[in-house]
This record gives sequence, C-alpha cells and structure tokens, in this order.
Amino acid sequence: MRSYEVRTYGCQMNVHDSERLSGLLESAGYVRVEDGGQPDVVVFNTCAVRENADNRLYGNLGHLAPVKKQHPGMQIAVGGCLAQKDRGEITRRAPWVDVVFGTHNIGSLPALLERARHNDEAQVEILESLEVFPSTLPTRRESPYAAWVSISVGCNNTCTFCIVPSLRGTEKDRRPGEVLAEVEALVADGVLEVTLLGQNVNSYGVEFGDRLAFGKLLRACGDIEGLERVRFTSPHPKDFTDDVIAAMAETPNVMPSLHMPLQSGSDTVLKAMRRSYRRDRYLGILERVRAAMPDAAITTDVIVGFPGETDDDFEQTLDVVRQARFSGAFTFQYSTRPGTPAAGMDRQVPKAVVQERYERLVALQDDVSWAENKRQVGRRLDVLVAEGEGRKDGATHRLSGRAPDNRLVHFALPDGVEPPRRDRTAAPRRDRTAAPRPGDVATVEVTYAAPHHLVADGAFGGVRATRAGDAWAARQGRGQQPVGLLLGMPSRRVPGLTVQDA
Ligand code: SF4
Repeated sequence: MRSYEVRTYGCQMNVHDSERLSGLLESAGYVRVEDGGQPDVVVFNTCAVRENADNRLYGNLGHLAPVKKQHPGMQIAVGGCLAQKDRGEITRRAPWVDVVFGTHNIGSLPALLERARHNDEAQVEILESLEVFPSTLPTRRESPYAAWVSISVGCNNTCTFCIVPSLRGTEKDRRPGEVLAEVEALVADGVLEVTLLGQNVNSYGVEFGDRLAFGKLLRACGDIEGLERVRFTSPHPKDFTDDVIAAMAETPNVMPSLHMPLQSGSDTVLKAMRRSYRRDRYLGILERVRAAMPDAAITTDVIVGFPGETDDDFEQTLDVVRQARFSGAFTFQYSTRPGTPAAGMDRQVPKAVVQERYERLVALQDDVSWAENKRQVGRRLDVLVAEGEGRKDGATHRLSGRAPDNRLVHFALPDGVEPPRRDRTAAPRRDRTAAPRPGDVATVEVTYAAPHHLVADGAFGGVRATRAGDAWAARQGRGQQPVGLLLGMPSRRVPGLTVQDA
C-alpha cells in the first residue's frame, strides 16, 4: 500500500481541509506514513496569508527534489491557497511536482495523483468556484474528542490586507440541517466539542436569506444531547449582532469564549483596511458580551504597521487593547501580500517602526493577559484533557487541556497516578491508579497564572470519564474500560475505579 504525509500551513480552515485530504487518501487505499518513515506521497496544503509563504514552499519543494530522485514512484502534490494563486507557476518553478490542485477541488486529489502516475505527467487542476461543499468528503479526524465543522467557505468582504476572498471565493453557506446532521454524527462517534468554522460566521445565512441563522444554529447545537462544548471562529465585528450574544449566553453548551478580530483600534486605519466597523462599535460588542457572560474570555487578532498607520493610530490600538482586556491576542506585523489591494498603497510603514510598535503591543498584551489570567487563580475549572498541548508535561508530571473559556491549563496529577501512555505495544500495567485520558474532563483548582497559560496544582476535584475518552482509548488499540470516577485528594482510590492500562 502506498503511504502518504500531509504537511499543513496556515489557519484552521487548512487544518480542517487537511483532515479531508487524509480522509480522501485513506478512502483511496493510501495509509498514513509511520513516524520517521519515507512517504510515497507528500501533500503540501499551503497558505498564502503568511509572510514569505511562497519562499518557504519553494524551499521545501527544493529539499524534496533529491529525495524524490532516490525514491522512484514518489509523488508530490501541492494544494491550498498558494496553489490556487500560483497555479502552473508551481510546476514551472519545481518541475518535479506531480500534482497542483486548488481550494475548490480538494476532492480531486486521488484522481489527479493517479492520472499523473498513469500519464507520467504533472497535473494542474484549479477550479474557479466550489462545485461540491467539502464537508461531503471523507475525513480523517485528528482528534477523537474535538472536531471542526464547516458552516461556510469563502468570504464576501474585501479587507484590503486579505488574499482570502480572491482565493477562496465568495461565501457559500451550508444548510443548517446538514451542519446539524454532521454535528450529531460526530457526537455519536464520541466527539464532545465542535468548533463551527467559517471566514465570517456572523454572515452565515446570507446565501439562503436568514440574517439570524447563526444564532439559531448555536441554539440548535444546544439541543444535541452529548455535545458538551460548542465554539466558533471567526466572527466579524461588522456582522456580530445581539441575537448571537443572547444565543451564546442562553445555550449552556456554547462556551464563554470569543475570538473577535480587532485588526486596528484606529478608525482611520479600519477604514483603509475596508473593515466597516469602528472602535466604538467594537468596544460596545465586548461590553455587551461581558454583560451577558461575565466570565467570557475574549481573544483577538491585531495587525501593526498597516500602510499609513501613524503614531497616533497606533496609540489608539494600544488604547483599545487596554480597554478590551483580551485574554490573548494573535499579533501580526503588516507586510505586503502580493495580490492584495494594500500591497499597492502609499505610505508603507518602515520595517523598524513596525518592529518597535509590534514589541510595544506584545509587551502590553502580555501584561493584560497576565492580569486577566491572575484573576483565575483559586477558581475550580473543568478541563477537557487534550493531547499534545503541554510540551513539558512529561517532565512536570502534569496533563494539559482547555478550560471552558479555552484557556490552556496544565494540571498536576494526584500522587500515584500516571498519565496515559500512547505506546500501543507496551504491556498493560495494572498497578496504577487510572488517570484522565484525552477527552475526559478533570476538575482542577488554579494555583498559578502565566501570561499564556494557567497551572492548577491545587486540590484535584476528580475526573469524569467520557465517551470521548473511550474513543481516544479505542484509537490506541487497547480494550479500554471507562475510568470511573477519581475523586478528590491525591492518592485516594475510589471503589469502582477501574485500572487503566494506559
Ligand atoms: Fe479576509 Fe476580511 Fe474576509 Fe476575514 S473578513 S477572510 S480578513 S476579507
């Protein structure tokens, strides 16, 4: 069987598309390459938004050229936004690439690989618009407990720094019934948390004429039994309406977290960005969100150094950041993206100025995040245990996961409890107390706050074994029993607690 590897760059859309690419390849008989192995097919799922994305792609392709020479039959495919943008240019610059496919036809990948092999000729296929909504394609989900669900693709806005509308096309909405059927199927499969995905979730419904469709969709998710956490990204301040705030506040499984892109705190810059809200509207939304959900954690995106940004404009951004009390922010230094309207604008800000402003913004946001996180110390939180979120967990004997408001929490295990192992071949050890598995929910007490995470080494409040934890265990190839309930203080064994062969 031929093996594959998918390399993903960019946003959650791409991460989700990569799950589909993997699902498609596996349906076509490919297997995922073992760790450290040499795949027969390498797929690049590219992003055109990040700086120097093309240099990085061609650099990576260059590294693969000699590898391909040594492995007859190996194939290289390039998809995603950069492929949609560069098209035939990719095979001109890297003639050893076998397949180039666009954002609208990811479903064609297996057929294009087959055709390239059969014809011994590179295949470049880019469609101008979506033919099949990608959610109908097979998917290999990375996580057994959390899943992305696309509600729309494309965007009807024209932000001047953004290449997305020209590469992903205008907004296409899925019908609510289809979205909910997918969510129900995921929950039946063990998933506890879904994130609804769209470039602008707040304009969801524009295609089928229902301006209130997104709020209704959130409320409908609240009726799905077994669905514990609902998140969404990205909203847009222009289209964010009070019915969505009400739906969030009144639907218990919609989590108190919101990622609300600000981009700039200056009305002049927002206008030049063609973002049609202003700072007062933005701050008003945050005020109403906090009035309805006092514990909501709000995160954002900010771009520094947009063409024409003056010192005063930048001060206004700092001012909004202070007032908004974001729990975290993705901060970006503006740099020209070929193909965007902003690339041709006058008054580009010198690199040194952008850098200096950026450092001041990051320092301020770190202070704000830290202050906000300190307010969490002493709270008891239900943490959905995650896999791969805590790089130092092995050394610190902690596990990691996400609080309802999406804060990252590293928590200590009670004495005598060892974390679950991923080693499929190791013989089960039956002398240990069970630990929460990825997908289970641990109740922990926060004892320390850092700017970007919380530590919870206080009294351990117990573990709730979930269907998602069972699904995780089943994926490890072990006959996993539910862990039962692990209560209270360190080292305490509870009747009914089954030993985990983790
Ligand atoms: Fe790009 Fe603006 Fe659409 Fe977001 S809303 S995808 S930034 S054009």
